[in-house]
Amino acid sequence: MKRDHFHTIIIGAGPAGLSCARALAAKGKRVLVCEKNKYIGPKICAGGVTLAGLGQAIPSQLVERQFPIQNVSSTFQKTRLIGQEPLVSTVNRKDLGQWMAAAATEAGAIVLSDTAVREITTTEVVTSKGAYGFDFLVGADGSNSQVRRFLHLPVQKIGVGIQYHIPASMPEMVWHLDPRQFNTGYCWIFPQAHRTSVGAYCFRRDMAPKTLKSRLHTWLDSQGIDYHGLKPEAANINFDYRGWRFNNFFLAGDAAGLASGLTGEGILPAMISGEEIAATIIDPQHQPHRLNRLIKNHKRHTRLLLLAGKNRFGCQLIMEGLILALKLKLIPFSALEMAH
Ligand SMILES: Cc1cc2nc3c(=O)[nH]c(=O)nc-3n(C[C@H](O)[C@H](O)[C@H](O)COP(=O)(O)OP(=O)(O)OC[C@H]3O[C@@H](n4cnc5c(N)ncnc54)[C@H](O)[C@@H]3O)c2cc1C
Repeated sequence: MKRDHFHTIIIGAGPAGLSCARALAAKGKRVLVCEKNKYIGPKICAGGVTLAGLGQAIPSQLVERQFPIQNVSSTFQKTRLIGQEPLVSTVNRKDLGQWMAAAATEAGAIVLSDTAVREITTTEVVTSKGAYGFDFLVGADGSNSQVRRFLHLPVQKIGVGIQYHIPASMPEMVWHLDPRQFNTGYCWIFPQAHRTSVGAYCFRRDMAPKTLKSRLHTWLDSQGIDYHGLKPEAANINFDYRGWRFNNFFLAGDAAGLASGLTGEGILPAMISGEEIAATIIDPQHQPHRLNRLIKNHKRHTRLLLLAGKNRFGCQLIMEGLILALKLKLIPFSALEMAH
């Protein structure tokens, strides 16, 4: 039987894969997206996006809640950052994924769900539904990327996020940075339309997930937030960036390690890298300015994280200094964004 051949095969229908598929298909390329999950969209994620970043790239009906006020606290300070416009909004990952999949399909991409990639060679991928040939392969398969393993790229810098979904939309968005409890990490309250993500994130090297979970519980108890009986969700966030272009193979989003190691922000980096990879495949002379800026910010975030992780006192100083600088408006809240 003749094997079906595609100009580009993309593994993973997250924000990285779908943004890449849409951009390539819009230029008339024959594109296949293979997604192992039955349903496109759902993902362990708090859904926090900034207006200046992702907020500009998605229709307003996908935005669930908007927050002009950010409550930021640390061991010694508490502040309310008030913006003219919403500083951070929340989206529902299922709705975002469904919208992105529809846009990619409308542009002409073939998006196959329930299709796990089992094997990769230099010319084809073998999936649960058959083998497909390609000219270009994009690994957009998340933090545990098979394409990255095929390229023999290790993953040494990994963050971990743990969250509960409280079945009510809480009134305010909260960030809590306390190095005595969370080292370089933080915990959050991100309300969505009908539920609230409460969780914690940290660099795995600094703290074991089990410790992070028990400290999150202590913080939730101190806030009077009842998580008992709810199921915790946890996932890794790869931020070990080692390149995105490997001849006719590409890595996007978490597979490339492009999420921030400092904040865990990864949706917008995934989308930007997906689009920039598509532009590079279409025109090898393309100058990926947006991706270059992202990589620069990624390096800055990693440097700050590694510096803060050196000792508890230094970390405390950096966290308190950061909150003071935000409070005094010496730096804007957007300075922490990856696409800044
Ligand atoms: C607890 C937590 C909270 C977070 N909160 C935020 C937040 O508030 N804001 C933010 O910006 N970021 C957040 N992130 C990070 C964000 O979720 C990721 O950075 C983002 O989803 C990366 O997008 P991606 O497309 O690269 O990968 P993913 O969204 O992980 O998509 C990868 C896709 O590939 C598929 N796949 C994997 N292997 C295969 C295979 N072999 N065959 C076929 N398909 C495969 C997967 O099923 C998945 O659908 C959070 C992460 C965690 C863990």
